[in-house]
Amino acid sequence: MEFARITLPREASGPVREGPASPSGASSPAPLLDVEGLTKRFQGVVALRDYRLVLHEGEILGVIGPNGAGKTTLINLLSGFLRPDGGRIRFRGQDLTRLPAHRIPALGIARTFQNIRLFPSLTALENVMVAMAVRDPPDVPSTVLGFGPWQRKIRRMQDEAMALLEQIGIAHLAHRLAGTLAYGDQRRVEIARALALAPSLLLLDEPTAGLHLEESEALIEQLSRLHRERRMAILMVAHDMPVVMRFCPRLHVLNSGILLAEGTPEEIRNNPLVLEAFLGRLGRSGTA
Ligand code: ADP
Ligand code: MG
Repeated sequence: MEFARITLPREASGPVREGPASPSGASSPAPLLDVEGLTKRFQGVVALRDYRLVLHEGEILGVIGPNGAGKTTLINLLSGFLRPDGGRIRFRGQDLTRLPAHRIPALGIARTFQNIRLFPSLTALENVMVAMAVRDPPDVPSTVLGFGPWQRKIRRMQDEAMALLEQIGIAHLAHRLAGTLAYGDQRRVEIARALALAPSLLLLDEPTAGLHLEESEALIEQLSRLHRERRMAILMVAHDMPVVMRFCPRLHVLNSGILLAEGTPEEIRNNPLVLEAFLGRLGRSGTA
């Protein structure tokens, strides 16, 4: 067994270079995301402790760990839904540690939710269009003074939203109310809505939770294709080991808020700390 590349968080001091060099090569540019010492407490519980991460443009990272490990807390911190108690988040060199959630999407960070949050009484298409309006709000003079330009803008948004639904495989459900869609399709609408923000970092919180194996594999296949086409970085939190191991060339393992190990899926699979903390537990509960 090979544990050489597994590093424990306590060893980290200062910014750590990890992951592949940027595709542009040359003099290594600033990472897309640079997180140091990130800490979040809830009353007595330390949900995330001294977490660090360097993610480059276009990279895919899987974050795995048992329930309560701090995975959703990490996504909430990166997307501004929670304020950290310590540490720092830099995105393209900009410090966004204290920015409120509504300022984050415009910077190029989009997320989905573990518990799906759609407007159930809007159609799938409208849910995606709402996100576009966030990215590119209608300007008041043209909406008041000119019906034509406004109509053209709506039409463009519709076409773009439809193209996103098509890419994620649910164009045929565009006019169905989101609340009436099957679970897996609601997850797809959420992903299309996140993509509508044209993110350079996509944060996915358990995108395959509640899906059957075949559904999960189909979704991962679509995500892989989207990644090839768009080259955005993806941080995917997951639980579903076979799926995450296939999709993510690099993994972080969280346990009780601590970065327990990192490495390739193969390294993680063979790491005794991980086996004990996570796989063993899943193995016993039979949900792996
Ligand atoms: P995961 O997504 O890995 O299952 P979470 O990030 O949701 O884990 O939770 C990590 C820990 O923080 C858990 O002990 C959880 O109970 C606690 N926690 C998360 N969110 C809150 C909150 N809003 N208030 C209080 N405790 C929370
Ligand atoms: Mg969670």
